[in-house]
Amino acid sequence: MVELLEQIIAECRPDIQKGSVATYIPELAKQDPNDFGIYVLSSDGSHYCAGDYMKPFTVQSIIKPVLLLLALMDNGTEEVRRHIGVEATGKPFDAINVSDKSLVSEHFNPMVNAGAIVICSLIRGKDYVERFERLLDLTRKLADNPNIDVDEAVYRSEKTHGFKNRALAYLLKAHGLLEDDVEDVLDCYFRACSIRICSRDLAHIGFVLANRGKTVRSETRLFPSEFARFVNAVLVTCGMYDGSGEFALRVGVPAKSGVGGGIMAVVPTRLGIGIYSPALNEKGNSIAGIHALELLSKRLYLGIF
Ligand code: GLU
Repeated sequence: MVELLEQIIAECRPDIQKGSVATYIPELAKQDPNDFGIYVLSSDGSHYCAGDYMKPFTVQSIIKPVLLLLALMDNGTEEVRRHIGVEATGKPFDAINVSDKSLVSEHFNPMVNAGAIVICSLIRGKDYVERFERLLDLTRKLADNPNIDVDEAVYRSEKTHGFKNRALAYLLKAHGLLEDDVEDVLDCYFRACSIRICSRDLAHIGFVLANRGKTVRSETRLFPSEFARFVNAVLVTCGMYDGSGEFALRVGVPAKSGVGGGIMAVVPTRLGIGIYSPALNEKGNSIAGIHALELLSKRLYLGIF
């Protein structure tokens, strides 16, 4: 298996030339496009890894399924559904997806920025410091890594350059879809995107979703299985930005990508997979990462369709 992962990295490495690292957040532009890591965690407890699987990077949008999970744990499915839609938008993750007067919650799902910003406001806590701490705590538990923390430089860069997210959040507020203070909610969102993880952590988080709420070693249940079903269903249709349909055809498993270059893949009942390769395609997905998952899916018959 490790040999297979090494072969896949070698075969996909040339793809890196066809993509580029994200630059719209200046701190992300410092990433090395040649980093490439894969970590696979299996339901029998074994794990397989190759390349730069311990290299840290920021989670970015891959925190969105964790945010959704926490909102579900805090409020239940019905209440969450009252605030966000679950349909693919067919538009980029930061699209201002409205014509004026028609911004309604059904128009954005939790995997695009507008939906994720609303989800931040559904997390329980006496203030946004506590809400973020609860998110970080859940991330550490899912990843089985108590050392996960925020990359402060990326956080500052996000906060300084997140003009479009600011515009989106104020628009949500103007349409009565966001109750709390916009800057407080945004601060939580920017911090959430700036959490530093590695491919290993993503594989562990993906595994708990694949295993319907239970961790690999302890059999501890972290959340009810219906919430895993909810998150995985949204990942299949909306997890890979506006490239989700093509990803479903090529790979065929629930997954989430982030502009930091990570992909978390969930193979129900079988595997959690974490990949890091920061050169992105035009949709903001790791170009070599998708190819690697496609090869892995073909070789191991991972597709669920
Ligand atoms: N912090 C990023 C943003 O909202 C996350 C984007 C992403 O990974 O899709 O701009």
